[in-house]
Amino acid sequence: MNVVIIGCGIVGAAIAYELSQVKGVTITVLDKQPPAQASTGAALGVLMGIISHKIKGNAWRLRSTSIQRYESLIPELEAITNRNIPFNRQGILSLCPEGEDLDGWQKLQEIRHSQGWQLEIWDKAKLQKICPQVDDPKIIGAVYSPQDRQLDPTALTLALVEASQHNGVTFKFGVEVLGMTQAPKREWDSSIETTYGKITADWFIISAGLGSSPLTAQLNQKVDIRPVLGQALQLSLGHSLGNPNFQPVITGNDVHIVPIGNGDYWVGATVEFPENSDEIPPDEELLESVKQQAIGFCPELAKATILLTWTGLRPRPEGRPAPIIEKLSGFNNILLATGHYRNGVLLAPATACKIREMIISNDPQTTE
Ligand SMILES: Cc1cc2nc3c(=O)[nH]c(=O)nc-3n(C[C@H](O)[C@H](O)[C@H](O)COP(=O)(O)OP(=O)(O)OC[C@H]3O[C@@H](n4cnc5c(N)ncnc54)[C@H](O)[C@@H]3O)c2cc1C
Repeated sequence: MNVVIIGCGIVGAAIAYELSQVKGVTITVLDKQPPAQASTGAALGVLMGIISHKIKGNAWRLRSTSIQRYESLIPELEAITNRNIPFNRQGILSLCPEGEDLDGWQKLQEIRHSQGWQLEIWDKAKLQKICPQVDDPKIIGAVYSPQDRQLDPTALTLALVEASQHNGVTFKFGVEVLGMTQAPKREWDSSIETTYGKITADWFIISAGLGSSPLTAQLNQKVDIRPVLGQALQLSLGHSLGNPNFQPVITGNDVHIVPIGNGDYWVGATVEFPENSDEIPPDEELLESVKQQAIGFCPELAKATILLTWTGLRPRPEGRPAPIIEKLSGFNNILLATGHYRNGVLLAPATACKIREMIISNDPQTTE
């Protein structure tokens, strides 16, 4: 069975690796760019699973599946590829400002305990003792999630590509999918037009992020995915904030302070919607506000220098929840794995598992 995956961000790469472990499947991944260039290349890699407020249904299932899978996936990929994938196992600390709904957190803590996960609620004294770098009079405590993680999305994507190649997957970078032509329900002549020529396959998986909309539009089944801009920056302090041996991601008011080693921190990200068109000019003031909020939480960051700033576009489904993991309406062999908006890094492993199940359950020839 031949499978073509369109798009090699974190989602396409995770699907390629997952499917590469199924016998009887020949996989080709196409991308118009090198891997991890679009949304994935801008992401901070914060995996807000246990600390998210999703508690049931698909949204929670995808999160818990991913958080569990990452624990085995990272060492597995490191062993196959000999690459180092920066993976912060020290958890996520969410700061609570005055007026925070602590009852809500306590309820979430109880639910997580009943689901077999941990959450800790820290008062101000405990927060100051464990994370003295947080020095903001408006912060009254924090919620600590020891089992949530953060990783480097580009390093992970490159490792997924290499491990998939090791398992026999073919990658064609610099190949753009120009058009899709297929008669509904007629799987045998499915084909796509690319800059590399016509390619046929039994299954097509569209994991092209923002590029998914124009492809589905050609099949008269437009899945509307729109961009939401994010800006972030890398600060260099030259030494660790607080205890060098305890460096969780710190998050407050949707601003993440992400330790990446050597006294450097990623800080982000803004959330900027398009106004009248799909063009979103980055708003410098919003980035400055994100930086000032980070300094408000950890005043020592005021001494840091800015090493880098960047922007990226998140693929957000219009008028429906993210992500979209389903068959394209009217087509038996086109699967969508797209529209992951703010959580594509978190949800990539669970997305890949779901796609594998969809393919296996449809094809008795494949074996795990
Ligand atoms: C600033 C910022 C911070 C973020 N932080 C986090 C975070 O902390 N945690 C988290 O989980 N998520 C985060 N995200 C969101 C995350 O980056 C996305 O949800 C995720 O990267 C989506 O991955 P993807 O593989 O679907 O899309 P992309 O990474 O956008 O990849 C799509 C690929 O498809 C290719 N493509 C498109 N059209 C075609 C075509 N016609 N032919 C060939 N190839 C095509 C593109 O070249 C691209 O490589 C952040 C995003 C931003 C912008």
